[in-house]
Amino acid sequence: MNISEVLFQTAKEIPNHAAIVFRNEKITYQELADKVMEKAAGLRKYGITNGSHVGLMMANKPEYVIAYFSLLAIGATVIPLNPTFKENEITYILNDSDAVALIVDEIGLGEVQKAHKSLSSVKSIFTLTETEAYVAWEEVSGKPANFYIEPKNQYDNAQIIYTSGTTGKPKGALITHGNLGWMSETSADLLELTKEDRVLVVLPLFHAYAKLQGLLICVLRGATIYLEERFIPDVILQKLADYQISIFLGVPTMYTMFIHSPKIKELDFSSLRLAGSGGASLPVEILEKVEEEMGVQIGEGYGQTESTVMISCFPSNIEKVPGSVGVPVPGLELQIVDPNGREVPVNEVGEIIFKGPNGMKGYYKKEEATNETIKEGWVYTGDLGRRDERGYLYIVDRKKDMIIRGGYNVYPREIEEVLYTHPNIVECAVVGESDPVFGEEVAAYVVTKSEITPDDITSFCKQQLAHYKIPRKIYFMKELPKTTTGKILKTPLKKK
Ligand code: ATP
Repeated sequence: MNISEVLFQTAKEIPNHAAIVFRNEKITYQELADKVMEKAAGLRKYGITNGSHVGLMMANKPEYVIAYFSLLAIGATVIPLNPTFKENEITYILNDSDAVALIVDEIGLGEVQKAHKSLSSVKSIFTLTETEAYVAWEEVSGKPANFYIEPKNQYDNAQIIYTSGTTGKPKGALITHGNLGWMSETSADLLELTKEDRVLVVLPLFHAYAKLQGLLICVLRGATIYLEERFIPDVILQKLADYQISIFLGVPTMYTMFIHSPKIKELDFSSLRLAGSGGASLPVEILEKVEEEMGVQIGEGYGQTESTVMISCFPSNIEKVPGSVGVPVPGLELQIVDPNGREVPVNEVGEIIFKGPNGMKGYYKKEEATNETIKEGWVYTGDLGRRDERGYLYIVDRKKDMIIRGGYNVYPREIEEVLYTHPNIVECAVVGESDPVFGEEVAAYVVTKSEITPDDITSFCKQQLAHYKIPRKIYFMKELPKTTTGKILKTPLKKK
């Protein structure tokens, strides 16, 4: 089934129900479906057709949703791009993905113009703002009579999502219509989503997390999406209260900012039934503060682009365990393995691998990387984890982030968890720094509320950590480098 059908099905069932609320403008499911039909029929006139690869570079706005569904409906493969990408990033992704067209909003336009001369396969560029050189998106229009949904099978590509490259050059994960269909049904069930839900989506739609949890499952179940362009903690907290939002989707950095906002104590969040967190580890300290201050349950999930979105989470019928990322999503097999691919005993650390209908097909045109990642149907996540006696999964760290100090394995996440309990530390990142004696030394980059000394931090850590895990190098930062999805970028810190 073509995944875009979820929209037309919902529009048939609840045509007048609000699909999107954006800047106080309401778009119903029928209006959304009509727009999608018009644009899909229009795109065909420009030669965009079944199998075309098309870049979609926009911030959160209704046009994103319209463009996304119209591309899927005509059978094109969507290549999402971050609208703040620079010339070289745009060139790399559009050339690597063999994109024949691009739809871009006003934010990315300037950089696209610079990249234009280096684009090897792009023939059409559609822009949300008028320019002389490119086709205005407004002009893309066709008659509903000329609209039909391109049939797709479950193995057909729906989107190629480039990993954000926190660990290397971005690779395009091939996500199929089958991946999206299965993952949407499963996630919607897990979240017990209904059309009464009001879901606030400020996470960028170009990212796998928001696209699935913030868009597809909402459309599937007819929930209303409150779409936001920018994350400003006070503003978002206010909107959660004013719009009586029932589900908020966030990443740990957002929750860290929430707990430092005075609004968290002032407002009433009683309509909120779930606050999702994923994409990076959520320090237990922050999870507990948010739950206490906002009176909401945080549902932490673990996943990656390669798993369409989720690998594990806490279904409502299982007890929550702080520090754990829950149990494997139903229908998915999960193992923890040693470097030879053999399962390790309970509570031992190894690489997390999974097998299931949400596993990507591979990396686009990267056979070697695909064969290193998918073996006999198992997707190797590159994450280290362990499972306890009850089957709960704990993320230990990324394989690539592990520090080896004098032969001892040090997991930065464990140290970060301790640092987050320090009353003066707002944010931190622990990385390995090359050292002539130990091979690697533990370095902590910290953002503090007020001035403290490196000694304060080391003596604090000494009370809770073995000596080889104590950060010997402490760097005070104004802020930490982050991806636009709010994930702390460790690579620039490692290079420092
Ligand atoms: P790249 O893979 O290129 O570094 P990226 O980090 O943006 O880019 P994503 O697919 O967005 O790629 O991130 C997935 C990774 O994020 C997981 O493999 C895992 O390391 C981490 N992650 C996701 N959710 C959690 C979680 N709940 N707890 C700890 N880590 C998490």
